[in-house]
Amino acid sequence: MDNFDVIIIGSGMGGLACGDLLSREGLKICIIEKNKQLGGCLQTYVRDKVIFDSGVHYLGGLDKGQNLYQIFKYMNLMDKLKLQKQDEDVFDKIVIDTDETEYPFAQGYENFINKLLVHFPGEENALRTYCDRIKEVCSKFPLYNLRSNGEYNEKASVLEIDTKEYIDSVTQNEKLRVVLAGNNALYAGQPGKTPFYVHALILNSYIESSWKCVDGGSQISKFIARNIREMGGVILRDTEVVRIVADAKQVTHVELKDGSRKHATHYISNMHPVKTLEITDSDLIKNVYRKRLKSLENSISSFTLNIVFKKDSFKYFKYNYYCHNEGTVWTVADYTEENWPLGYAMFLSASSKGNVYAESMTVLTYMRYDEVKQWEATFNTASDQQDRGTEYDAFKRRKAERLLDSVEKKFPGLRSHIKAYYTATPLSYRDYIGNDDGSLYGIVKDYKDPLRTFISPRTKLPNLFFTGQNLNLHGILGAAMSGLVTSCALLGNDKIIEKVRNA
Ligand SMILES: Cc1cc2nc3c(=O)[nH]c(=O)nc-3n(C[C@H](O)[C@H](O)[C@H](O)COP(=O)(O)OP(=O)(O)OC[C@H]3O[C@@H](n4cnc5c(N)ncnc54)[C@H](O)[C@@H]3O)c2cc1C
Repeated sequence: MDNFDVIIIGSGMGGLACGDLLSREGLKICIIEKNKQLGGCLQTYVRDKVIFDSGVHYLGGLDKGQNLYQIFKYMNLMDKLKLQKQDEDVFDKIVIDTDETEYPFAQGYENFINKLLVHFPGEENALRTYCDRIKEVCSKFPLYNLRSNGEYNEKASVLEIDTKEYIDSVTQNEKLRVVLAGNNALYAGQPGKTPFYVHALILNSYIESSWKCVDGGSQISKFIARNIREMGGVILRDTEVVRIVADAKQVTHVELKDGSRKHATHYISNMHPVKTLEITDSDLIKNVYRKRLKSLENSISSFTLNIVFKKDSFKYFKYNYYCHNEGTVWTVADYTEENWPLGYAMFLSASSKGNVYAESMTVLTYMRYDEVKQWEATFNTASDQQDRGTEYDAFKRRKAERLLDSVEKKFPGLRSHIKAYYTATPLSYRDYIGNDDGSLYGIVKDYKDPLRTFISPRTKLPNLFFTGQNLNLHGILGAAMSGLVTSCALLGNDKIIEKVRNA
């Protein structure tokens, strides 16, 4: 019989963070991952000898002393990762199709304000109010600031603010309102729903500092996995957990696809909470709880166009673009067949081969799962590589060309630089990450009912825990923090937070 302290189902950022942090506490870990490649959204893939990220285009908070830096430093990653800082004066450019101006988001709060003041000279008060509010909201989240003595009450006062309403309240300038909401694809922002704290925690992290992983984000999972193995942990790839089995009191084992069992004292699921409960058989998990989780909306999915450039053809730059059609910044997801896409985000990949010319570009836009539902019976997973058929290929090509038409309005002649392109749809994300609908960021937060969308790491089974983006916040930072929260819950104390802060 195995003798693990903790079995972790899934090797996304949250699962890996738990594995690393708990190994450091002396626990014997076993991570079980259904894919051949570890990392969940940290996975990369290679086409035409070029590395593409599946779900990490840039990271925030990685300057000395900042929150993700401290977590990664504690995990012994900071001197190993190949990172590239984005342009200090602009990490994101916000563009509206009817306006020639590229509105810059710069790193550092004073720089952020000053660079926007060039375009909005009368708006200093608004910009300062906005930045101060972001900082104030962030200060109310103890874990985000790596404080271990946090009280829920601290943040209660800032949970029920609507992002759009708040941004609209700081200025009467319509253009500035649009610009401040301009990179809301980072959190799949919805008007009348997305809480301002989500906007604040994410924007703050990138304004503090903004980075790209050179040659892709899978280096993060590779180094964490190495740490875990060096500390005595075991990692099983290409191994799917199909059941979490409990007796009257607690989880006794997990069952794998090949019918074998694995045992441990504690179990952590990095799967979507709803998917976790679907494979957990226990009367201790009440139907009301199952129904409550099931009723929560997942964020929209995406269509991704990964372009390989001809050699030395398209100049590299160290910033991203968020482009929208006039008047659609909050409604990009409400597209129709005729007007898709209403906006997109564009990222160049950082490569160790040099940064004069770009090797590749990723263009990401929203796509609803419904659009690919007709092919949902086909799977493309580690164990099951099915061809989705010629109609699906034609659909992807049509969408890619439509998206390229849109991108070419901003970058005329882009097509002439393209050597090849590859696409991913909501089905690709469904199959590679393991959720039902290819959702970009998991459970949608709602300012009107914030507690309903907070998922506790604890379950009614005392030795089963959740981790990952669905807990507090999505993104690499959010999922890494979920690893901290879950590890503290499992250990019954929050001493690790202090260790991370002092790393
Ligand atoms: C297109 C896209 C772009 C993004 N861009 C950025 C970005 O630029 N910056 C940023 O910070 N964040 C970005 N994100 C978000 C970020 O990548 C995610 O929030 C984060 O990585 C999720 O981590 P997680 O811990 O929740 O695990 P996930 O990445 O969801 O991984 C879960 C893991 O569990 C495994 N699993 C599922 N079921 C089973 C099972 N039954 N048995 C075994 N294993 C199982 C899966 O295979 C997967 O490896 C992006 C996401 C997407 C989709």
